[in-house]
Amino acid sequence: MEIEPAKKYIYSDIELDREEGQVIEDLKAQSQQPIPDPDQWLDEELEQNILLTSVDALINWGRRSSLWTAICFPACCAFEMIAANGPRFDMARFGMEILRASPRQADLMITAGTLTWKMAPNVRRIYNQMAEPKWVIAMGACAISGGIFASAEYAVVPGYNRIIPVDVYVPGCPPRPEALIYGIQMLQKKIARRKNIDVRKILGR
Ligand code: SF4
Repeated sequence: MEIEPAKKYIYSDIELDREEGQVIEDLKAQSQQPIPDPDQWLDEELEQNILLTSVDALINWGRRSSLWTAICFPACCAFEMIAANGPRFDMARFGMEILRASPRQADLMITAGTLTWKMAPNVRRIYNQMAEPKWVIAMGACAISGGIFASAEYAVVPGYNRIIPVDVYVPGCPPRPEALIYGIQMLQKKIARRKNIDVRKILGR
């Protein structure tokens, strides 16, 4: 039977002992007092980190910071809407970078374009399928009043507010992305004032 040769270590036994001794001495130096009960730490942590707000303010903050837009852009204003989503205007700053193909996952409709009566039932169906609570921004002259087509063309809806409720109106033909972003900020202010919880109902009054 062959005997393995003795292993050679980088450090000598004396150096390793000295190293270990130093670790033990350091720990001893840090351990002169008993560690307090963890529950006391928790109290201290809570005192330093609690932020008081109302439930309404918290819910509204979450909602206005994560508006998801339904894809429903029937005409030319859509191109300014698309530009607003690009890196230059960067709608992601408002938590809005996600456009949803399914209305059930959307809570905002930006009506970017002319609407005809033939399309109107479909737009209303999309609105009805969106999750509650939901909001609408009428973008552009066509969305607000039918625009240049309303007086000359019987097939054009003279404003989306004939078929769905509109929260914010952004004028222009088309409005620039900056105008749309201003409209979004107005909507966010509106959402921030929303009352979600009826305390009287909870207390049974
Ligand atoms: S407002 Fe002007 S740009 Fe927008 S959909 Fe109407 S015609 Fe097109």
